[in-house]
Amino acid sequence: MGRKFVVGGNWKMNGDKKQVTEIVETLKKASLDSNVEVVIGVPAIYLEYVQSIVPNTINVAAQNCWKVPKGAFTGEISPAMIKDIGANWVILGHSERRTIFGEKDDLVAEKVAHALESGLKVIACIGETLEEREAGKTEEVVFRQTKALLPAIGSNWDKVVLAYEPVWAIGTGKTATPQQAQDVHASLRNWLSANASADVANAVRIQYGGSVTAANAKELAACPDIDGFLVGGASLKPEFVDIVNATQ
Ligand code: PGA
Repeated sequence: MGRKFVVGGNWKMNGDKKQVTEIVETLKKASLDSNVEVVIGVPAIYLEYVQSIVPNTINVAAQNCWKVPKGAFTGEISPAMIKDIGANWVILGHSERRTIFGEKDDLVAEKVAHALESGLKVIACIGETLEEREAGKTEEVVFRQTKALLPAIGSNWDKVVLAYEPVWAIGTGKTATPQQAQDVHASLRNWLSANASADVANAVRIQYGGSVTAANAKELAACPDIDGFLVGGASLKPEFVDIVNATQ
């Protein structure tokens, strides 16, 4: 069976109640390709509200969570809470979490393990900085970040989507070229074949993220190893619909 295209919207810390309502209204009115899985990453405070107004064809994700079920962790939310309000996904290891909030590979892995244990599906983000790319370390970094996730994912690969997001392409308007993205996706799949299994490598969906727009989505979507997108800025705009429909 082929890999179902999966498009995530990462709203980050944007929007207010009026705007999130408008975005959902736009998605409801649009004709979204039913062969594409859509997951919107919503700020924690609007999760329950958005979950209550989206049609059941759209999945809701938290943008982060903590690594244990409950306790004295001021300001954090648990996978159990995310599930409790009816959402089924969480985005983990986003580069903004890694660079601004200091999340290291092992913490990301602990979060992934607990989220999966709790029954959430996970979009796990990886990707190199500009400095790392220029030093020729793209593969080394991406493999290291993925290696840290292997024990955390265990046999739950069917509940995981990997998002390859070169940090230099996020929010910068500088998209990786389809060839650059395809090259990393293909070598990551090879690496997974050697380090997880051929079945995992063949089945796992790898999203590309970093300045995806309606204008570049079709060309990126045509690459054989790109199985979807994780979209930041453009997920707040009506063009998100065209990105979801990029394979049509
Ligand atoms: P961008 O963000 O589309 O605004 O570059 C992507 C992301 O951070 O997931």
